[in-house]
Amino acid sequence: MISPVMPTYGRFDLAFERGEGVYLYTTDGRKFLDFVAGIAVTGVGHCHPKLVQALSGQAEKLWHVSNLYEIPEQTRLAERLVANSFADSVFFNNSGAEAVETAIKMARKYQDAQGHPERYRVITVQGAFHGRSLATLAAGGQEKHLAGFGPVTEGFDQVPFGNLNELRAAIGPETAAILVEPLQGEGGIRPMALDYLRGLRKAADEFGVLLMFDEVQCGMGRTGKLFAHEWAGIEPDVMALAKALGGGFPIGAVLAKEGPAAAMTAGSHGSTFGGNPLACAVGNAVLDVILEDGFLDRVDKVARRFWKKLEALVAAHPKIFESVSGAGLMLGLKCVPENIVVVKKLMDGGLLTVGAGDNVVRMVPPLIIEDSHVDEALAIIDKAASELTKE
Ligand SMILES: *Cc1c(COP(=O)(O)O)cnc(C)c1O
Repeated sequence: MISPVMPTYGRFDLAFERGEGVYLYTTDGRKFLDFVAGIAVTGVGHCHPKLVQALSGQAEKLWHVSNLYEIPEQTRLAERLVANSFADSVFFNNSGAEAVETAIKMARKYQDAQGHPERYRVITVQGAFHGRSLATLAAGGQEKHLAGFGPVTEGFDQVPFGNLNELRAAIGPETAAILVEPLQGEGGIRPMALDYLRGLRKAADEFGVLLMFDEVQCGMGRTGKLFAHEWAGIEPDVMALAKALGGGFPIGAVLAKEGPAAAMTAGSHGSTFGGNPLACAVGNAVLDVILEDGFLDRVDKVARRFWKKLEALVAAHPKIFESVSGAGLMLGLKCVPENIVVVKKLMDGGLLTVGAGDNVVRMVPPLIIEDSHVDEALAIIDKAASELTKE
């Protein structure tokens, strides 16, 4: 008989009751070091006091009113995202897929407003993941996610990862935008070269198409800067955010420069829940934490030390690990055995990690981790790798 919860997820036999900072506690009292963080969602750790306070404080005042009215918490969050990014304006959603879907709609609407309704196609890169709606599935272009859900939504062209010439060659008279993750998450923790990102900016300007970044996973401080593209010293025209923006409360956002944002005229797009008072109160609290002086520098410092020690660990266990990849606290260990075997072994040792494409074990810990947590994780990884080598 089918379970009451639809069988879309292959789940581990673990149920958590409580979270505190970097740790999770199961209903039967076991403690885990959480380097999954809800897949890069609980960026400031579980039950951060500032987030708890923001959420419960707002819950006692007002939960929801509809975007028919002014929402001061939403305005404040938008103003702060604008002040701390390339963007001039923000639209709020509830999830990553919705945010990317909005970005795709914006690209079409912008080109239409420019007098180019024929420009509707979006170029994406192999290995991409942009969400599970029909359009974002097509944008991601992954066979395993598209199977059975055809026909595939029209309007997407995919090019090989990291090849600027092929991408430039794919830009045609119908191209509206380029959409990429500066650091691919689901695809296997694959960072795009900074020069490649700069090349995308140049190509977009040259051909009059929009450059759109999906920073749903790699944004919000994950790489040691507020947004991953900042490492390349360039700016996109549009960017999708979600995951860590709400620290575990569902919220997504599309940030855009004035041009594309202005195309989204009153009545052209909307969302019932997007940017409601509860979500935005929490989003503001997340920003309070991440924008605090020294926070991102600390992320960068902890991450660099972690990376160095991981490289040594990989070298010490050649039968288990091939290489380290990623940036900041978005790290991948490419495995020799099947990655799920390693994930399970680490789980037995008390460390939560998650698989990604390309046979990678992904680690996206809360950004508040300290050297001691890193050392604890390294010891578990070292022990697991030694045991797996003997098996
Ligand atoms: C998780 C993710 C999405 C989809 O977000 P949902 O909230 O699950 O819809 C889109 N893009 C990237 C890069 C992601 O990591």
